[in-house]
This record gives sequence, C-alpha cells and structure tokens, in this order.
Amino acid sequence: MSLLSITDLANEVAGKPILKGLSLSIGAGEIHAIMGPNGAGKSTLAYTLGGRPGYEVTGGSVTFAGEDLLAMEPHERAAAGLFLGFQYPVEIPGVSTVQFLREALNAQRKTRGEEPLSGGAFLKLAREKAALLKLDPEMLKRPVNVGFSGGEKKRAEMVQMGVLDPKFAILDETDSGLDIDALRIVGEGINAIMRKPDKAVLLITHYQRLLDYVKPDFVHVLAAGRIVRSGGPELALELEEQGYEAVVA
Ligand code: ADP
Ligand code: MG
Ligand code: MG
Repeated sequence: MSLLSITDLANEVAGKPILKGLSLSIGAGEIHAIMGPNGAGKSTLAYTLGGRPGYEVTGGSVTFAGEDLLAMEPHERAAAGLFLGFQYPVEIPGVSTVQFLREALNAQRKTRGEEPLSGGAFLKLAREKAALLKLDPEMLKRPVNVGFSGGEKKRAEMVQMGVLDPKFAILDETDSGLDIDALRIVGEGINAIMRKPDKAVLLITHYQRLLDYVKPDFVHVLAAGRIVRSGGPELALELEEQGYEAVVA
C-alpha cells in the first residue's frame, strides 16, 4: 500500500496555476527523487504537501497513511509524520536549537495525544542524533541556525529530522551548498534515519551526486507542473548527461 498517494493535484500560487495534474504514488520503504528544471514546481509541490498558506489546492487529492492529507492543518500533517526540509533554513535568534527541537517534538506528541518527553530523555535523543550527523553537541546550545555555516544548517536540519522521527520526509535541495564531506554525512544521515521499511523519502534535487549516497528506487522528472517521466536510478544519470530538455522532449 502506498504511504503517500497524490492524484491529479492542481494548485495556484498568487492566482497563477503551478501544479497542473500531478500524480505520484510512494510506497513505504521507498526513496523517490524528483528532478526538473528551475521553476517547474518542485518547491511548490513540497510547500503544498506541507500545507503552507498561499498554496491553494484547486484540484486532485492526496492521501497520507490512508488519511486525507489536504483536510489536515499543517501541524496535524507534521504530527502525522510528515517532515519538510528546506533549501533555506530559517534563523531564529533568541531560541536555542535544543529548546526549539524539544518544543517541536513535544508539540507533535501533544497533537498525537502523547506525553511530552522529559528533559533528560530529550537531551539524550538530541545528542544521539547530533552524533549521527557529526554535529558538535555544543552547537545545540546556540540559537537556531544563527551563524551556522551552510553545511551546519543542513546537518542541524537532519538532527531535527532524527529527533522528530517522521514517517515521510520531503527534502527540497538538501544538497545545495554542501561540500563533499558534508554531502556524505547528510546522505548517510538520511539513510540512517529514513531508510526503514515503514518510512519513505521524496528527495528534490538538481544533481546526481546526492543520489550516489541516497540511492533512489525511482526517479521522476517534474516539468511545467506535472510528472513527465519516471524511471529507475538510471534516469538521473541520463538527465545529468543529456539535460532536461533532451529527456523531457
Ligand atoms: P522549482 O522549485 O521547481 O524551481 P517553484 O516551485 O519554486 O519551482 O516555482 C514554480 C513556479 O511558481 C515559478 O514560476 C515561480 O515563479 C512560481 N512561484 C512560486 N512561489 C511563488 C509565489 N510565492 N508567488 C508567485 N509565484 C510563485
Ligand atoms: Mg528552484
Ligand atoms: Mg525549488
């Protein structure tokens, strides 16, 4: 059974149609990559699935773990196990990373009707995930993303993913701005956290290089608001060699 099923999804942003009948089905245990030219609607798809205000759904349906995702509030989507990682992580001066992560986790637990995690249990969890991402645990005391390098921001975001332990992660250009070492650490982190039989990942990327670490089961090309081609990992290599235009045409 598919974990996330998108059928004929259409939407508008600021009155402009962006997604135009996008269908995609992702099963538990699978990693899918979406590639595609700039402006194709990749980030719009991620925001729309997350329920961001201003991304108005005008048609189609999305089910997540058997539930109507589009009927859920953004915080309910997160509590149900949907995680979104973004290209430009926000900085939050005045809030320590550890405090932010604990509040995010306990807010989700509350929505699910679970007890909050104690300070000690939380700290142990956060340190364990920081170690997994080779992030100095001292960084967890610093304000969220403030003064973090590009690589540290991405690793901190993967620590957040590890702490929240989602069922499904949509990672939008998580590889952008990473050097080779950070790319490997982030790739291995994604595998360690998400490559499980009951989880799935949608990786949005322009480059094959992340896919060397996080091997996709399926690769899709998004162009002009639709999935125009799907294939196996070899499709990413074909795209890298030939460019989108040759493959999409
Ligand atoms: P991609 O991530 O594939 O590069 P986006 O989803 O960011 O593409 O953008 C798809 C289209 O939607 C582009 O034409 C972009 O200009 C437009 N768009 C995205 N966000 C907004 C917005 N907030 N307001 C107006 N247009 C937007
Ligand atoms: Mg873009
Ligand atoms: Mg984008």
